Amino acid sequence: MGAELRNRLSWSHSRHETFRSCLRRYYYHYYGSWGGWSTGAPPERRRLYLLKNLKSRYLWAGGIVHEVVAAALTQVRAAGETAPLPPVSGEEAGEHTVARMRREFRLSRSGAYREDPRRVLGLIEHHYAESVGDAAWQGLAETVRRSVRHFYAGGHRERLARVEPGDWLALEDLQTFPLAGVPVYVKMDVAWRVGGGTVRIVDWKTGRRPPQPGGRQLAVYALYAAEQWGVTPAQIELREVNLNLGDEAQAGTCAADLVAAREEIAASIAAMRERLVDSEENRAQVADFPAIPEPRRCHPCPFREVCPEYQEMSR
Ligand code: SF4
Repeated sequence: MGAELRNRLSWSHSRHETFRSCLRRYYYHYYGSWGGWSTGAPPERRRLYLLKNLKSRYLWAGGIVHEVVAAALTQVRAAGETAPLPPVSGEEAGEHTVARMRREFRLSRSGAYREDPRRVLGLIEHHYAESVGDAAWQGLAETVRRSVRHFYAGGHRERLARVEPGDWLALEDLQTFPLAGVPVYVKMDVAWRVGGGTVRIVDWKTGRRPPQPGGRQLAVYALYAAEQWGVTPAQIELREVNLNLGDEAQAGTCAADLVAAREEIAASIAAMRERLVDSEENRAQVADFPAIPEPRRCHPCPFREVCPEYQEMSR
């Protein structure tokens, strides 16, 4: 028999964002749905688990681009620097990816995710029968097509093909480091040593915002790099690449940034702990996580159908 899976407190950038956006949503996602993957779990828990796994169309589209890029770079890494890089048409790769989107879209619309919410895509828009016009779906497909094209045209594969096998540091790997007594999770898109002890960390984006590599997510990556890869702040390069816009920007970091990131994570963990009825056992009760519905915040939330406060507001 395997060890019992326990719900332990941890920290990640996305967990922090959920905590900040709505305490009730945070409760549903990290506590209410826990164990809902089991067919023997209570129906309410199973329902929360299903809802937790729904994705907005934007998250879905961004996730597909990340998967395509990660698969391409996994091939580059496996081939090593001696093998010639096979040419890939960005146009064809873009069309191939959009064909995959169509298949997943149809599967989501069929409701198959209700049987297996973790493995089968369920879109929030389908689950809530939202009215999204054809032009919006086509615009989404065009964003993905363009992002894949920009990836292949941007020379990223060629650049990474020159990286020596021992210099690859991360490629969508889930990595962790301890802080304030809990594991902090990071999942960098790609990171490698560029020479002279410098580490480059790249974050792919697919939205409309021009690249700004100064945010918290990259600061957390920098903190991980400093603590786990033994580099100084001056040796860390943070690069945000917006594949949708075909634009990128780079920033450095400094010791003060890393101290600030560490303090911000510690404060966030403390705030999460304060909400628990038992912080040792990471036990929470829903009454300690108030829902404050507000249309802009609630619209992308997958838990609308179970949130009484939202139901009340919508009446
Ligand atoms: S519907 Fe609104 S208030 Fe309710 S959990 Fe979601 S974001 Fe929070």
